[in-house]
Amino acid sequence: MSHELFPGIRSAADCVGWADEAWALMQRLYPVCRSITGDGVRETLAVVGERIALQLHEVPSGLPVFDWTVPQEWNVREAWIKDPAGQKVVDLRDHSLHLMSYSTPVHARMPLSELRAHLHSLPDHPDWIPYRTSYYREAWGFCLPHRQLQALPEGEYEVFIDSTLAPGHLSYAECVVPGRSEQEFLVFTHICHPGLCNDNLTGIAVATALAAALAQGPTPRLTYRFVFAPGTIGSITWLARNEARLGAVRDGLVIGLLGDRGPLTYKRSRREDAGIDRLAEHLLPQLAPGTRLIPFSPYGYDERQLCSPGFNLPVGRLTRTPNNEYPQYHSSADDFDLIDRQALAESMAACATLLRAADREGRYLNLNPKCEPMLGKRGLYRPTGGGHPGEFEHALLWVLNQSDGGRSLLQIAQRSGLAFDTVADAAQALEEVGLLRLHED
Ligand code: ZN
Repeated sequence: MSHELFPGIRSAADCVGWADEAWALMQRLYPVCRSITGDGVRETLAVVGERIALQLHEVPSGLPVFDWTVPQEWNVREAWIKDPAGQKVVDLRDHSLHLMSYSTPVHARMPLSELRAHLHSLPDHPDWIPYRTSYYREAWGFCLPHRQLQALPEGEYEVFIDSTLAPGHLSYAECVVPGRSEQEFLVFTHICHPGLCNDNLTGIAVATALAAALAQGPTPRLTYRFVFAPGTIGSITWLARNEARLGAVRDGLVIGLLGDRGPLTYKRSRREDAGIDRLAEHLLPQLAPGTRLIPFSPYGYDERQLCSPGFNLPVGRLTRTPNNEYPQYHSSADDFDLIDRQALAESMAACATLLRAADREGRYLNLNPKCEPMLGKRGLYRPTGGGHPGEFEHALLWVLNQSDGGRSLLQIAQRSGLAFDTVADAAQALEEVGLLRLHED
């Protein structure tokens, strides 16, 4: 009997139903005005919490977290600009990107010349609204299409931002699927972006689908911890509050940007040869031949913190086109048109493949190492001799021969040329008849 995770998920075609559910979740979350703190984050976590069991954490503003401090909580109720004729020309209600995140409250009248210093646009993409934030410097601003900015008439404008920046909390949540071992697989995704699809709704939706499927499936070997937290300050806060138990993290993935039409891109951990790096390098090109493998760099998403030298966690990153490498990045053009359901399904299959393989990967010990054990009497070898052994029989022999506690199943797959899953199936069969046991954990 197989205990493997995500049974039936082998390719993108098997993930079409998941991708449809992810799409629906993204549509529900798209209008929510998220930031690094505040009610938009809570609402997002509440919606995710309808699908998977979440533990919510509220960390008070002002708490020191390494070199940082948990910021004040930001909430906004209303924000708009009225032109000299009294018409609302920019309104937060129309798009959550219209307001610079963490804008301080303001209610003032001013000429266009003065207002311009607070308006952000993208001259190279005049129909898109940029995404701007000012988390750590008190300021206010609006974002709008460049074409609209250029057409604004001179005169006196009224600006109104009904926001609060006050002591409160930073919210993040975890979903833990307990395994037989306390060793953990960490899946980290950021949740702080407002109306942007690829950059961060795909990550939230894929993490939710994986956690839901794991919770319904067979008990995994590893414990799976999904963290939904704001980018940078969220991972820094999570690390500060979990430092004592980071030794349990055996593998991990930062995920996001999983729905665009670019190829899958796996970014190695800072270690470059962590278990997850080796699994990704071997398995992802088999699943998606266009997969790109890129080296670690200290730029990107929360791998910046998880792979900082004081932690150096064995955590890689899976995206499609990386941050800053597609024109729609951090603009209103990162919308549902940018997302391809087929690509999203492939990303989900890739995540499922890596989690399943990590759950099966390990070093084993042959408990009958002196000559080959008799497999036939244990029902593991065909009763009729003379023919060539099949793949599975080959895998049994390879696993028995190489399992001296030094070589992992992945290494045996690479040395033998057999599929990783065939080797893992053989190890499981040998373990079940008492010829093999795990040499770690
Ligand atoms: Zn981003």
